[in-house]
Amino acid sequence: MDILEKIEELPRIELGSLPTPIERLQNFEKKLGVNNIYIKRDDLTGLGPGGNKIRSLEFILGEAVSQNCDTIIVAGPLQSNLCTLAACSCAKAGLKCITVHNGENPERAEGNLLLNKLLNVESHYLGNIPSKERNKYADELKVLLKEEGLSPYVIENGATTGMGAMGYVSAILEMKKQVDELNIPLKSIYAPGGNGGVAAGLIYGNALFGFPFEINIISVEYDKRTLAGEIKKVFDQLDVILATPLQYEISDICNIIDDYRGEDWGVNTKESEEMVHTFPQLEGIFIENIYTSKVLAGMEDLAQLGKLQEGSCYLHTGGLGSLFSQY
Ligand SMILES: *Cc1c(COP(=O)(O)O)cnc(C)c1O
Repeated sequence: MDILEKIEELPRIELGSLPTPIERLQNFEKKLGVNNIYIKRDDLTGLGPGGNKIRSLEFILGEAVSQNCDTIIVAGPLQSNLCTLAACSCAKAGLKCITVHNGENPERAEGNLLLNKLLNVESHYLGNIPSKERNKYADELKVLLKEEGLSPYVIENGATTGMGAMGYVSAILEMKKQVDELNIPLKSIYAPGGNGGVAAGLIYGNALFGFPFEINIISVEYDKRTLAGEIKKVFDQLDVILATPLQYEISDICNIIDDYRGEDWGVNTKESEEMVHTFPQLEGIFIENIYTSKVLAGMEDLAQLGKLQEGSCYLHTGGLGSLFSQY
């Protein structure tokens, strides 16, 4: 079967306002001294505060609905973008959503927690425990709910799964079509790498559709080798979903850059902290501390080193909800 038909046949529900715009960053490109710098506005995917997870949720919740599930369990830190966007998506899709957090329920709900409150989602706060234990709780909750007669579905691994990554496999098709229609010289994509779900989808889709772009992943947490290992795990799942094993080494078909991640996940570098201020001042578009600021800080440094080519595009993955808890 043709690969496009195969993708069409996957369970999917419509959640996002797609395609998201591609625009030129006129002021940022002056600051960088490089022409034709673009932004792909995946912060404008439509539901809630927007962001990349909406694309993943179209396929993940599509799978849940195809399995007749009625309750979605999603786990993450307090300010998890995934949890809030899953809750928004469940509202739209008519599913019950339960969020599970490692952290204490704060007196004042800020950022994504405020949005969760307005959505009236059922939230379980487990105190300061490791993510692994939190995820185990989510699995146990699934068993409990089943016994109560519900049909629960757990969103695994922060949506970094093969089905989740399908969102960005299909985003490559979307971008390819847009770039053709707009007739713009967009050659290269810069995106963040957390657990590697977005990265895996982009890299896999780009290979699947004949390498229309060069893919650059700026790691926000892991070193190169670890992130490549995480991406490989998602590749293996995509191979099964699409039944077309991809015959490439990851390092041959993308650049993973780990020079801009700083000390840890969510810890700004001096440059990324500055970028949280300068980028909205230049373009009127907000970014946040964990993912988006590090990609732009990386692009700026690469420009200064003469390594950022014309026609580079920043993929804005959103995260607006969490910004309101970060300052
Ligand atoms: C989840 C998320 C990402 C990417 O995460 P991966 O785990 O690498 O798929 C990037 N940006 C934002 C704002 C996110 O919420």
